Amino acid sequence: MGGMDRIALPASALVVLIGPSGSGKSTFAARHFQPTEVLSSDEFRAIVADDPTDQRASRAAFELLHLAARRRLERGRLTVIDATNVTRTSRLELVALAAETRRPAVAIVLDAPLEVCLGRNARREGRTVAADVVIRQADELSRWLSGPSGLADEGFAAVHRLADPARIDDVTVVRVPGRGRRATGAGTIAATGSDRLVDRRTAR
Ligand code: GDP
Ligand code: MG
Repeated sequence: MGGMDRIALPASALVVLIGPSGSGKSTFAARHFQPTEVLSSDEFRAIVADDPTDQRASRAAFELLHLAARRRLERGRLTVIDATNVTRTSRLELVALAAETRRPAVAIVLDAPLEVCLGRNARREGRTVAADVVIRQADELSRWLSGPSGLADEGFAAVHRLADPARIDDVTVVRVPGRGRRATGAGTIAATGSDRLVDRRTAR
């Protein structure tokens, strides 16, 4: 089923990319968004430590990333977070930020098979992430995705799950005017790609 996957984003949304290293987040972001719309944890690590892989710089990097996101959202600028976001805590921080700035948070899960993530990671030039780290990230994410509510209880206005990120060419991202629903806790889960419709919740 090619060419039909469509993700509608409120023009002022906070878009939270979710996926292990190698799942294709940065590629997806570069394809569908302006460079200035994308805030990447790697880039913020480089900004504070001259090294996108320096995990000791993560705390400082995320501090700046969150502040940059806040300032953009206050202006109603669509903002994309390019970080693994596999932990619940990391996602809830971003949902809270969206709620505080009265913007809808939309999750896009790059749910590539672990072997795909490992293979892409091993093959990519420049920085590679150790296999055990990728495995841990994938385990962490699958724990939440396979839970009873998936990510539905985290406050996203919508959750799009790309089960086959190899077909990112088939995904169309469209922007819809207005604010959409704010990040307040009720969510709609829409599956995109080969995955089925997972869940649909009504607003509180
Ligand atoms: P991230 O770690 O989640 O940001 O993943 P990247 O976007 O950096 O992708 C990791 C590697 O996989 C890069 O070398 C990309 O060129 C490659 N890659 C990403 N998406 C695709 C895809 O859809 N198809 C193929 N063949 N390669 C991809
Ligand atoms: Mg990346």
